[in-house]
Amino acid sequence: MNPNPLTLLWEGFEIQSYQQISSDSLVIQLQPSPNRQYHCRHCLQSAYQMHDRSIRRIRERDIGPFKVWLDVPVARVACSRCGPRTERISWLPDRLRMTRSFMLWIEVLVQKMPVAHVARLTGVHWHTVKAIDYQRLKREQREPDRQGLKRLIMDEFALFKGHRYATVVVNADNQQLLWVGEGRSRAAVRPFFEWLGVEACEQIEAVAMDMNTAMDLEVQHHCRNARVVYDLFHVVAKFGREVVDRVRVDQANQLRHDKPGRKIIKRARWLLLRNANNLKAEQAIQLQELLQANQSLMTVYVLKDQLKELWFAPSEAEAKRRWREWYGMAMSSGIQPAIQFAKRLKGYLSGITASAVYRLNTSVLEGMNNKIKVIKRMAYGYRDNDYFFLKIKAAFPGKVR
Ligand SMILES: [Zn+2]
Repeated sequence: MNPNPLTLLWEGFEIQSYQQISSDSLVIQLQPSPNRQYHCRHCLQSAYQMHDRSIRRIRERDIGPFKVWLDVPVARVACSRCGPRTERISWLPDRLRMTRSFMLWIEVLVQKMPVAHVARLTGVHWHTVKAIDYQRLKREQREPDRQGLKRLIMDEFALFKGHRYATVVVNADNQQLLWVGEGRSRAAVRPFFEWLGVEACEQIEAVAMDMNTAMDLEVQHHCRNARVVYDLFHVVAKFGREVVDRVRVDQANQLRHDKPGRKIIKRARWLLLRNANNLKAEQAIQLQELLQANQSLMTVYVLKDQLKELWFAPSEAEAKRRWREWYGMAMSSGIQPAIQFAKRLKGYLSGITASAVYRLNTSVLEGMNNKIKVIKRMAYGYRDNDYFFLKIKAAFPGKVR
């Protein structure tokens, strides 16, 4: 019976000696086991050991409170196929100065926390941490299935610098990410349709997206059976920014001589833009008081709520009826930002009423946006779109139904 469980860690080697080099660090010197079999690292064939060896200092996982390094004597072998080569050591990955189990530990950590944190925690350079994560993502990457796709979601998000964009395409039925690429122009998304292929393109029934992009034209060009659907999430968010917030600022400016009243409105941005269902009891009361004291804010707030109802119409005819009602309300509100918004929205009507037929859960989009933001923060500092896109792909593997 072997009294030393550490021998389980380093197949083919045993401990020769160790030194404590500081209060929290150990170096363990290994030596080959007497019965060690040698193999060529390149072709894995067994081979004779040559006389030269070199000692490599390798990082191992911590043992108790100690950070651990190993001094590993790595032999050269005479391979009958490859000539002189380094020997294969099963627990040492190529080109890294760490054991496989230490590398796997980094892989686990970097899925849970930012690269910079893992680097600080382990003492490994962030560049190495990122490279390990990148290799894992490449290894685990799977080509998405093109068959049976019916409904897609296309969305864009800002890249690191803010003024450059990327586009994602998601299967609306299982939320699997199908494609991600730089840019948001027609040409930028063309490679997605080329990947999809003519046959799969014809099967697409609906594609949800933001208004105000050129992507709808590209969709119509490739997927002649698809209907473009403008999703609730983007339209309502836009109404919030362009109408509710505009009116809030205007109203605050009008209260120049009423400092307390002005302060209340200036601070109400979040309250007004937040989904009413997510407000706490006292916030809901605060909102009610604000709206009752300000007629214009009340009007645009009601318009925003009514706008949402368009997307939940039981039929397209009912969606059109609700649209006419909403449009009439907006136009007679006397509030310029609301009138302008309604006029512009009219041009997108078909894509709005289509949502009555092709229901696409907008919380999916909202959730995706948030998740991408988190990934961006985690990978912050590494302006490497390749890595960032792999991270995003891995975050949306699709739900099994
Ligand atoms: Zn070989």
